[in-house]
Amino acid sequence: MTLLSEKELEKYSRQILIDKVGIKGQEEIKASSVLLIGCGGLGTSAAQYLVMAGVGKIKIIDFDSVELSNLNRQTLLLEEDIGLKKTEAIAKRLKRINSASEVITQTKKIQKHNINKYLKPYKIILDCTDNFKTRYLINKYCHKNKKILISAALQSFDVQAFAFSSWKNKKNPCYECIFPDIGQKINNSCDQLGIIAPIAGLGGVIQATLTLNVILKNTKEIFQEFISLDCFSRNFRKIKVRKNPECKICNR
Ligand SMILES: [Zn+2]
Repeated sequence: MTLLSEKELEKYSRQILIDKVGIKGQEEIKASSVLLIGCGGLGTSAAQYLVMAGVGKIKIIDFDSVELSNLNRQTLLLEEDIGLKKTEAIAKRLKRINSASEVITQTKKIQKHNINKYLKPYKIILDCTDNFKTRYLINKYCHKNKKILISAALQSFDVQAFAFSSWKNKKNPCYECIFPDIGQKINNSCDQLGIIAPIAGLGGVIQATLTLNVILKNTKEIFQEFISLDCFSRNFRKIKVRKNPECKICNR
C-alpha cells in the first residue's frame, strides 16, 4: 500500500521509474520538509525544483523586494512582480507549480536573535544567501543544533556547492573549516562580483539535487565533498574535504 495517490503516481512517474527513487523514495520526498534561507538566484531555482520533485513542505525566508536587476537570473519572478516582496511573489508561483506542496513564507532577515525560532522545526536547511556574515551565522547554528546544511555560492561563471553535517563525526567539515571567519569584511554578493544568468539556476539546481540525495539517504561521502564548477573553462571538479583541526566552530 502506498501513501501516494493515483495522481501523484502519474505526476512523479518519471522519478519513480528510477531504481534509486522508486515508490518508497517518492514517499520519502513527499514526507520531507525543507527550509530555504534567501530567495535570490539560488533560492528561486532550488525552491522551484524541490517543489516540482514533490517535497511535501517548503519554507522560504527572505526580506527583499523584487528589483529589475533580479530578473536576469532569478526564476519564478516576473516583471509584474517588481516592488513586491520576493516571498509573496515566489509563494504564488510555487503553489501554481505544485498545489499539493505546502509553501510557507517568512518575510524576515535571519539574525542571531531569531535564527532559532525560524530554523528549529527543520532538519534540512538550504543556505541560499549571498553574504559571509549570514553564512557564518547559519553554519554555526546548524552545527550546534545538528541540522543538515546545503550551501552554495556563485560568482561570474563559477558555482561552489556543499552538503554539511559536521556534528555527525570527526571527519565531516563545516562551512568554516573551508572558509574560516578571519574577521575580514569580504563582500561576495552578486551585486559586487557579477553573475551570468544560468549560473544562478545551476547553483540552485545542485542544491536541490544534494537535498534530494540527503532525503533519499544517498549520503556516502556527500558530507566530505567540495563541488566546484568553472563554467567558463568547463572545468568541473569534486574535491575531498575534511574537518579542519583548527576550526573554531566544529572542532571543539
Ligand atoms: Zn568546522
